[in-house]
Amino acid sequence: MKKLFILGLIVGLITLFQLFDLGQFLTLDYIKSQQASLQNFYQQNRLLTIAGFFVGYVLVTGASLPGAAIMTLAAGALFGLLNGVIIVSFASSIGATLAFLVSRYLLRDSVQKKFGDRLKTINAGLDKDGAFYLFALRLVPAFPFFIINLVMGLTSLKTITFYWASQLGMLAGTIVYVNAGTQLAQIDSVAGVLSIELILSFVLLALLPFIGRRIVDLIKRRNALKAYPRPQKFDTNLIVIGGGSAGLVTAYIAAAVKAKVTLIEKHKMGGDCLNTGCVPSKAIIRSAKFLSHISRSQEFGIKKADADFDFADIMQRVQSVIAKIEPHDSIERYSQLGVDVVQGEARIVSPYAVEVNGQTISARNIVVATGARPFVPPIEGIDQIHYYSSDNLWELRVQPQKMVVLGGGPIGCELTQSFARLGVDVTQVEMAPQIMGREDPEISELVQQKFKDEGVRVLVNHRAKQFVQKNGQQFLIAEHAGKDVEIEFDTLLVAVGRAPNTTGFGLEELGVRLTARGTIEVDEFLQTSIPTIYACGDVAGPYQFTHTAAHQAWYSSVNSLFGLVRRFKVDYSVIPWATFTEPEVARVGLNESEAKQQGVAYEVTRFDIDDLDRAIADSEAHGFIKVLTVPGKDTILGVTIVGEHAGDLIAEYVLAMKHGLGLNKILGTIHIYPTLAEANKYVAGNWKRAHAPQKLLQWVQRFHQWRRA
Ligand SMILES: Cc1cc2nc3c(=O)[nH]c(=O)nc-3n(C[C@H](O)[C@H](O)[C@H](O)COP(=O)(O)OP(=O)(O)OC[C@H]3O[C@@H](n4cnc5c(N)ncnc54)[C@H](O)[C@@H]3O)c2cc1C
Repeated sequence: MKKLFILGLIVGLITLFQLFDLGQFLTLDYIKSQQASLQNFYQQNRLLTIAGFFVGYVLVTGASLPGAAIMTLAAGALFGLLNGVIIVSFASSIGATLAFLVSRYLLRDSVQKKFGDRLKTINAGLDKDGAFYLFALRLVPAFPFFIINLVMGLTSLKTITFYWASQLGMLAGTIVYVNAGTQLAQIDSVAGVLSIELILSFVLLALLPFIGRRIVDLIKRRNALKAYPRPQKFDTNLIVIGGGSAGLVTAYIAAAVKAKVTLIEKHKMGGDCLNTGCVPSKAIIRSAKFLSHISRSQEFGIKKADADFDFADIMQRVQSVIAKIEPHDSIERYSQLGVDVVQGEARIVSPYAVEVNGQTISARNIVVATGARPFVPPIEGIDQIHYYSSDNLWELRVQPQKMVVLGGGPIGCELTQSFARLGVDVTQVEMAPQIMGREDPEISELVQQKFKDEGVRVLVNHRAKQFVQKNGQQFLIAEHAGKDVEIEFDTLLVAVGRAPNTTGFGLEELGVRLTARGTIEVDEFLQTSIPTIYACGDVAGPYQFTHTAAHQAWYSSVNSLFGLVRRFKVDYSVIPWATFTEPEVARVGLNESEAKQQGVAYEVTRFDIDDLDRAIADSEAHGFIKVLTVPGKDTILGVTIVGEHAGDLIAEYVLAMKHGLGLNKILGTIHIYPTLAEANKYVAGNWKRAHAPQKLLQWVQRFHQWRRA
């Protein structure tokens, strides 16, 4: 109702303006012809004239009516330069703010709802630099005043910022117009007030804040580096610290573009992904899956199948898988690619130098890619027991009997199911109401049900409180609904998250800033607060995946080597990931929970994979695809796939989202029969059916009837 009232008020004002042809009083000719009588009236009724003029100006600008420029000239003619500038400056700023608020009140919610996710970058930019942008726009009178008011109202810019940046930005233009108004008789047209030279001067003035900011950045850069003498010559172009996914790709790209690059790794080449993360976890998942197939033998028409296995052999296979992949990340391979690989612990001693094995190497830039380590929560008694994390789990050779997995994230879930399938009695303990906290509740429930069906005890809403030992047995005490629950275990796996490696190698001494999450603070170019130092991968966040580490690596390498010429902002617009449980869960873009949280309007289209020929033939007819689209359009906002090979199936949507292809394009693409990938086409078909033009189809039906008659 309030919105309708305001809308009615604006429409009423515009109608009145048109009905009484008020525009005729806001022309140059009229003001000129009435100048003498207006001045006369002003001399006799000063306050009344000022108040009337002020209110009129605010109404005209607040309702976005034409005539502000004429009124500004009139202010010069009536009140003189100083008074005119003061009156117009406040009236125009208040009027502009009214128009801004009206636009915000009437339209912002629906605009933000519709385009929420895509406006995120614009909103973030405005939050940071909104005053600069607005000031620059206001300085150049060529940008239409009322459009700026209305558009800015749709953004997240603060009202107070809008007001002061507008008043300050419009001041120069106001002075020019009011001053011209003092010589009203000599003005032939409003446009003539601004000469080309004057407009150019305003443009230059508008650029001043940006130039100023660049200068401030340069000064900051100099200050950050001034305590450290810059070497006359550098030993190398780039030093990369850490030979994990992020560091390897950074070094690879640097060598590919012929830079001299030194890669320093203190432990094993390949980092977490190869040695303790993706590769070993996927290897154990494979063995566990094989065992699950054996237990399902009757589903495949095989009466009985037994597996005789030794836990140690499975863990040994994990090591042999690592050994097979190791050459991809080896010192030999990288040396052949042209990278100087140094084995040793790096320590940054200045923004230009790193110490390793007692030797100092200088470089124009440094990339920190030191990764993350398992986070161990400070739970009472944890230091009294032996626990495993993803770092040392792979050393296990004796099969655990009773295992507690602490954590319901992707790592905890993948390992819970694997160990359960290997015959271990697993209890998974999660503090939050659901495992896989980032996914929609229905997805987490599906996975949780599968875990339960396979004999896992999943305890959500359980907060681990204490570890105790009694009679040679170990227990976790967890709090659930105000009560303590005791869970016995012989093996504990801690998988509650990963903490970035930021200490002990010189960052603190240099004062490199960290974020609230403990990652290294980087800008959109991956540059840290020390301009010669860049960071990427798990240590920089915001994502902790191998593919995002490799994605960032390109930017850290190119920006550090070529930043002088051109720098690139990291593109996080389409980030996919998968959790390799069974059912596998893969996602790109928004899910329903996030869309609701961010106020993004969406439609959901589903396809249940239990209907898919290939899935039925494979006895894997379970799971679904859930696509979120912009209401009424085929534009994809996000996709979640649950089911066999979800991590592979999602690739089609990643490509589609990255390149702006909608569901119509997926529907129009031939998919091989019979494949799981056909599910992607079928979900697009479901969307199409739901959006079929019913009216048109009725006419088509009549056409066919007519043809039959
Ligand atoms: C169990 C598990 C499963 C996972 N599964 C997946 C998956 O399926 N898919 C996926 O995308 N991601 C997965 N991840 C995450 C993935 O492993 C990480 O995101 C990725 O390894 C990050 O790479 P990085 O280069 O940033 O760090 P890291 O791989 O940790 O590399 C950092 C390197 O820096 C070295 N280093 C540290 N400090 C120094 C120093 N001072 N001097 C010299 N060297 C130093 C370390 O020794 C290490 O080798 C998994 C992780 C775990 C733990």
